[in-house]
Amino acid sequence: MKVMKFGGTSVGKPERMRQVSQLITRDTEPKIVVLSALSGTTNALVEIGQSIAGGDREQARQQIARLDAHYQEFIRGLVKRDKTIAKAKAVVAEHFEFLTIILKISFSEALNKDILAQGELLSTKLFSLFLEDSGIDHVLLPALEFMSIDAHDEPRINSIKTKLGQLLEQHKDKNLFITQGYICRNARGEVDNLKRGGSDYSASLIAAAINASVCEIWTDIDGMHNNDPRMVKKTRPIEQLSFEEAAELAYFGAKILHPASIWPAQFYKVPVKLLNTMQPEAKGTLITEEAGSDGVKAIAAKDGIIAINIRSSRMLLAYGFLRKIFEVFEKYRTPIDMITTSEVAVSVTIDSATDLKSILKELEPFGTVEVEENYTIVSIVGNEITRTPEVLSKLFEALVPVPIRMVSYGGSKHNVSLLIPFANKTQTLQLLNKGLFGLE
Ligand code: ASP
Ligand code: MG
Repeated sequence: MKVMKFGGTSVGKPERMRQVSQLITRDTEPKIVVLSALSGTTNALVEIGQSIAGGDREQARQQIARLDAHYQEFIRGLVKRDKTIAKAKAVVAEHFEFLTIILKISFSEALNKDILAQGELLSTKLFSLFLEDSGIDHVLLPALEFMSIDAHDEPRINSIKTKLGQLLEQHKDKNLFITQGYICRNARGEVDNLKRGGSDYSASLIAAAINASVCEIWTDIDGMHNNDPRMVKKTRPIEQLSFEEAAELAYFGAKILHPASIWPAQFYKVPVKLLNTMQPEAKGTLITEEAGSDGVKAIAAKDGIIAINIRSSRMLLAYGFLRKIFEVFEKYRTPIDMITTSEVAVSVTIDSATDLKSILKELEPFGTVEVEENYTIVSIVGNEITRTPEVLSKLFEALVPVPIRMVSYGGSKHNVSLLIPFANKTQTLQLLNKGLFGLE
C-alpha cells in the first residue's frame, strides 16, 4: 500500500483534480490519497479567523462570501451529473453554513481551529464527489477519526496506527482511500491541526502507520532543487537525498517539504518521493536511508533569525555556564538553531521572537546580553560534506564580499551553516550557486 499526498495547487482547480484522479488510478497498488485544502483556502480561513478575533464580523462575513463564491465556481467546473452536482452544492452549503454560524458565536482558539479545518474537509469531500462522478470506486476516510496529537502537540503514532488499521479493516475489499491532510484531534478531543503546511506531515505519519511501500508528495515543482529558484536564475532538481540531508534542508528553509514530515518516514523506513503533478514523468527527488552520492547537494535559507550574544565574566564561563543558558531556552520551549562559543562569550540563534523578552530578562544575570535581529541562516547540505575536499575553500572564496556573522561546521557531517544579514541573502545564494554548483 502506498501514500500519495497532493498539495493545494495540485487540487486548486477542477482540471487539476481531474489530473490527480488520473495519477491515482495509473496502477492498481492500494493507496491512501492525502489532500490539502484548495490553494488559497487556508490563507482565506486564517484571515476570516483574524477578522472575527479582531471583532470585525462584517469583514469576516464578506471574506466568507468571497470564499463561498469561489467554491460555487469551482463545483460548476468539477462535476457534471445532476446527482453529484446536487451533492456538491450540499457539501459547500453545509460548510459555509457552519462558517456563518461561527460569525454569531463567541470566538475562541478552539473555534479558530474548526474554521481552519474547513479547507481540507471541503477539498476531500469535493474530490470524492468528483471520483463518484467519474465512476471511480473509493472510500473517504475521516482524518478526525484516526489522526491525533497529545498534550504537547506531538502525534500519537500508536493510536494513529491502531485507529487507521481498524478503519482500513472495515473496507478490506477497497483499494482507494481519500483522506484529509493537516487536520487532527488534540488531547482534549477537539479539532486541531498539524500547523501550516502540515499535510506532508499527515502523509508521512499515515505512511509510517501503515508501513507504506512509498510516501509520494506531489507538488508543483519537480523535486527538491539545489537552490531557491526565486533567488537564483538556474537550479536543478536533486535526484536522491538521505533522510538526514532532507531533514536539514526542510528545517533550514526548503519550502517543498514540512520539516517534521521526515522523521516518521525515516523511523519507519518508508522512502519518500517528491514528485511534480504538472510533470508526472519527471524523476523528482527520492529520499531514503541512502544518500546516493557525497558532496554538496543543496543550499537552503531560513529568514527571521535572531542572534543572541551572551558575554560573561571569565569565572562564569567555567562549567555550568552553557547549561544555565540552555535551561532558559528550554523553559520557553524555544529551539536553538546555531551556536558558537569562545572563552568569554556564546552566541546562539533562535527563529521565534514569541518569548524573546522573557528569555532576555532571564539571561541578564549571566552577563552582557546583545540581540541582533533580521538575520538569515544559509545552510549548505550534502552527505559527508565536511569530509569532501575543497568544500570549505570554495565556500569562503565565493563569499568574500559577505559579512558572515556565525559559522557552524562539524556539528553534523551533512551540513555547514552560515549566519548572514538578511540583506545579503540573495547575494549569498547567487554567489554560492556559482561557487559551489557552477550555475548562474
Ligand atoms: N492547508 C494547510 C496549509 O495551507 C495544510 C497544507 O496545505 O499542508 O497550511
Ligand atoms: Mg498548502
